Amino acid sequence: MAEFYKKVKQEIEKGFESVSIRSKEVLENMKIKKQIESLEQQIETAKTAVGQMAYAMFCQNHFNQADIIKSCESIAELEQQLQDKKEELNQLHLETGTALGKIYCSQCKTEIEEGAQYCGKCGEKVPDAPAVTE
Ligand SMILES: [Zn+2]
Repeated sequence: MAEFYKKVKQEIEKGFESVSIRSKEVLENMKIKKQIESLEQQIETAKTAVGQMAYAMFCQNHFNQADIIKSCESIAELEQQLQDKKEELNQLHLETGTALGKIYCSQCKTEIEEGAQYCGKCGEKVPDAPAVTE
């Protein structure tokens, strides 16, 4: 009997643990998504500004290529930051899944079905499935 209750208690604690891992992911996720949104807005604004600058130059019949290049470079920099944030989001998803006991393909990062020997997406062999500890 005692064993049974101990097991139930363990299951409940495991449940709480995964809830806290999940809610941490949700918070972190929201934070990164806000940063992504803000970067996307900055990029849009900057692109519009470059367009206006180029058109103003056209109107004055005087192109200042250096200025346009400088502005485009700063947009490219923002785009890079955006990519990094998206990568961070992926990484967070993988880390959370791993913390919850999921396994991911070493090649394409797809989640591996429980007990599968090969990745369902790219066919990569799954390294020795970890022993199930129950
Ligand atoms: Zn794969």
